[in-house]
Amino acid sequence: MTWLIVGLGVANEAVARQLRRRGEAVVATDDRPTDATRERAASAGVELIEAPTDEVLEALVRDAAVVLPGPGVPVSHPAYRLAEAHDTPVWSEFELAARWAPDARLAAVTGTNGKTTVTTVVTAMLRASTCRAVAAGNNDLPLVDALDFGVDVIVVEASSFRLQHAPSFHPQVAAWLNLAEDHLDWHPDMAHYAAAKARIWANHIAEDLAVANADDAVVMDAVRATSARVETFGLGQADWHVEDGALWTPAGEQVVKIDELPLARPHDLANALAACAVAVGAGATLDACHAVLTTFTGLPHRVQLVRDAGGVRWYDDSKATTPASVVAAVSGFPSVVLIAGGRNKGLRLDTLREVADHIRSVVAIGDSADEVEATFAGLRPVERASSMDEAVAAAQRAAEAGDAVLLSPGCASYDWYRNYGERGDDFARAVKELAS
Ligand code: ADP
Repeated sequence: MTWLIVGLGVANEAVARQLRRRGEAVVATDDRPTDATRERAASAGVELIEAPTDEVLEALVRDAAVVLPGPGVPVSHPAYRLAEAHDTPVWSEFELAARWAPDARLAAVTGTNGKTTVTTVVTAMLRASTCRAVAAGNNDLPLVDALDFGVDVIVVEASSFRLQHAPSFHPQVAAWLNLAEDHLDWHPDMAHYAAAKARIWANHIAEDLAVANADDAVVMDAVRATSARVETFGLGQADWHVEDGALWTPAGEQVVKIDELPLARPHDLANALAACAVAVGAGATLDACHAVLTTFTGLPHRVQLVRDAGGVRWYDDSKATTPASVVAAVSGFPSVVLIAGGRNKGLRLDTLREVADHIRSVVAIGDSADEVEATFAGLRPVERASSMDEAVAAAQRAAEAGDAVLLSPGCASYDWYRNYGERGDDFARAVKELAS
């Protein structure tokens, strides 16, 4: 029995290595292999079949016990069709983890926006409660590797792709933060995407805890199907809630006052409440929640202040690759010069008009510059830029004292950069060079 890996990136290298360690036979394919791919195959000790034809792939799928596509392999890839035709299961690394360590303590977080932030905060809250915790999943540490750490709790950042192909995945605490349009280049439609997210609760039993966003109708609808205990969080009526300038537990204990928080925009408060619910559900103390929230200043590339000069504040929000995250960022400021655009993931940018009242002007960049321009045509001035330096220069001309200049693209970065981190760093560089 062979395990067939399709797409040998960082995540699947870990899968390959873990399977080999267990003495399994593994074959990997990759459609666009680079030297790095070849090194991965060699170091994991697996055979690499480069850019297989459909016939070769079909033979591999036919002979495979399980197909393991990497997170970046789109559903349109023939491996999925072939697996279905040959009745071969398709698994993500979460399924392997669930089978290898059915008793591992897992606290999982999914949602369109805020996963990394909440996962990071929950991990810190658990550690501050002297519980050994590590964050894994859709970040630098694959879940199959985190199992080796021997920690008390693994805080799992759960992408819809990984959830979708993990029928046995069972986190005892599981939160769904929100749903907005995303990945429509990957999922055929929103219902498909939402169904994948809802799988976070699919194996819940009465002893488990489901954490749901009271302000999100789709999430609340889905949580009704769980047999677990449910705790909601939200800015309105919710178990974990906001009242009298503070965040509160379901039992009416105060967690923290809002004016103690370095980050206190509406979506920061929602994330903070969700993090408390998950962390306390997984064993954290309220004191630890307080200590972490009063010192957490955010992750890089998520509305990160990079410069404050001449009354204008410049923010890198390169991680905002969905319109919903742009809306969340922009609505936190009274007057914004917005730099937006990139490789659109099949999403409707016109939702950005919701926050036009907070926008002074727009700089349109990247592949989707036309769409950005069309979104704001007749509503706000739009200037186009064909490089980050040009974009920053245009933003400087447009900004007035008191404004925020926000790189919040609402699109992926792959048109100009390798990833969102590189895009944000380039923005920060250009902003700093302007100054000197
Ligand atoms: P993810 O891991 O789900 O992509 P991140 O924590 O990396 O989420 O944040 C991604 C982007 O979404 C950032 O621009 C961030 O400012 C924004 N964001 C974070 N939390 C939320 C939220 N609850 N609602 C809307 N946008 C959010």
